[in-house]
Amino acid sequence: MPDFARRDWALFTGRRIKQRLQPVKPFSVCWLLSSFAVAPHLKFSLWRGLFIIVAMAREYSFEWSLNLQSSPEMLWPFVADTNRFNHDAGLPAVRAAQNASNARAGTKRLRFSLLGLLVEWDEYPFEWVYPYRFSIHRLYLRGPFREIRVQAEMTPLAEGGTHLRYQVRFAPAWPLIGDAAILWQVGVVSRFRFLQVFREYDRLAQRGASQFDIPGAARFAPGGRQRLESARQAIVAEGEPRVFERLAWLLEHADDLALQRLRPYQLADLWNLPRRAVLEAFLRAARAGVLDLRWELLCPSCRGAAETHATLGQVHSHLHCTSCGIDFSVNFDRQVEAVFRPNPAVRVLPEMYQFCVSGPQSQPHAVLKAQLQPGDETILSPVLQAGSYRFYASGLPGELPVSVCEEGQDAVTLTLRPEGWPETELRLTPRPLLRLQNASEQTQFVRLERTAWRDDAATAADVTALQVFRDLFSREALRTGEEIAIGSVTLLFTDLRNSTRLYRQIGDAPAFGRVRQHFEVLQQAVAAEGGAVVKTMGDAVMAVFRQPVAALRAVRSAHTALSRLQGNPALAVKFGLHTGPCIVVTLNERLDYFGSTVNIAARLPGLAEGGELVFSGEIKNDPEVQTWLQQNGVQPVWFQANVKGYDQPFDLWRMWV
Ligand SMILES: [Zn+2]
Repeated sequence: MPDFARRDWALFTGRRIKQRLQPVKPFSVCWLLSSFAVAPHLKFSLWRGLFIIVAMAREYSFEWSLNLQSSPEMLWPFVADTNRFNHDAGLPAVRAAQNASNARAGTKRLRFSLLGLLVEWDEYPFEWVYPYRFSIHRLYLRGPFREIRVQAEMTPLAEGGTHLRYQVRFAPAWPLIGDAAILWQVGVVSRFRFLQVFREYDRLAQRGASQFDIPGAARFAPGGRQRLESARQAIVAEGEPRVFERLAWLLEHADDLALQRLRPYQLADLWNLPRRAVLEAFLRAARAGVLDLRWELLCPSCRGAAETHATLGQVHSHLHCTSCGIDFSVNFDRQVEAVFRPNPAVRVLPEMYQFCVSGPQSQPHAVLKAQLQPGDETILSPVLQAGSYRFYASGLPGELPVSVCEEGQDAVTLTLRPEGWPETELRLTPRPLLRLQNASEQTQFVRLERTAWRDDAATAADVTALQVFRDLFSREALRTGEEIAIGSVTLLFTDLRNSTRLYRQIGDAPAFGRVRQHFEVLQQAVAAEGGAVVKTMGDAVMAVFRQPVAALRAVRSAHTALSRLQGNPALAVKFGLHTGPCIVVTLNERLDYFGSTVNIAARLPGLAEGGELVFSGEIKNDPEVQTWLQQNGVQPVWFQANVKGYDQPFDLWRMWV
């Protein structure tokens, strides 16, 4: 059992001690001139050569530390968000270098320009251990440095709070005479700014604030405020008025970086408002020209946006992530996320506004990332939460499933061998001590990550199942011929009983009026529960929901509303519900669903009586449905029936609504 002292030791010694700077660059004219300026008395070329080598091998190291009041866990979302940190510390925006494909193996070639000076470097992937430490290593091609290593460490203090230690080690590229300027810039200017930013983050963490509370030099576009105000009615509609107030505050006060990518569910959680209300208000705001809707296609490995598109019509079903070098198929309920940013008519944001491309917070699902050279050994102690994780290494086949629970192992040695991971699942405590050894012949990038997808993404599956989206963005559809999978969706089919008799009894025009009235009732009930009507076929309706229980509630309220309708004969509707995977395609210029789930769902109303709902075992077994049935005292009746096209009879349930 590791004791506490050993844990603290592991925090500090977990990294490789051996750190070698890059070999000296080739001789340059600049260096020769510098050596003449600094040491004119050195006449002999041998001595001059030695001087140059010594001068070029010089390396500086700074270490800044301060105590903060918040815990490492509270500080991590701010401090490890290196994109935000570099922005707040006043560093310039970065972009991929033009010759990015020439970058060293395993690095990204990036650049920025500072006061007209072009700085270009190859960046190794960040390494980190949540919530204690992260580091970065850059090798420069242009600019004042040859090499930089940065490491931030946050150690919990016994009396609460955090001791933050920030180390910068660098080798200058400029001749000796430039050192004073570099040392002034790093040792004085950067130190002042960095420590100021850390203290500000501590204050934000203390009051439970988020990056949206960081005040910026925000300004509306000319006429932006008026546009926002005049869209108020359209954005609020019948929805939650507080969303508009919050959104207006954000557009007026939040800084440019926070507004680059607005995620409606994340904001809803932050604002303590219902997620659907915020998503619907954002969709209305996008229709009203206050926000722009964009679709991000997320890589299943790094979970970063591999592509971003303005419309669904630009989405391909197969993609490539350049960061990870992998191909993947797009799935509507995982990989396609709806994000928003202000419309330039309301607030102008700078384009290409990125300050760090791959810090720890760009992959918040990864709690540990470490590089191990062949023969390396490291001890790491991340903080984990109960649940499923997996170990993954860039150079090993497969992955190692990890489950985190109180009964798990406290200390584990994992040896990376070329044949791959052990076959059994690893069980760990929430604060394990991990010894990693690289027994393979190649460098390994090891990652420990949560397997669950974050549930705060408004996915395309969610958005396209909303009536508000279908009403406002009826033109949003996939490219013809494109098919995108959707892991799980609930489909409702309805059918009007005896409609032929209705037309014969009361005549075509009155009958059609009543049929249309019944469509309206159904549509309202579906929309009220967060679903959407996909289409009507004769007297039948096909609707889609993200959750089975929402469909169940919609069926009940539709039935209640229908039974209140005046007229003779009374209308009786048959309902069928099923849930499962589908594919999404565009048919007749609208998003439609296809596959076995649809075929089965479409047959179910045919097995029901008027005022009755028939549903499948998949619906019945849903935990939320079971709770709903219990709470409403409903006991569905089991029966078996054949569904056209299937040999085996289906287990089905029927209930009066
Ligand atoms: Zn990726």
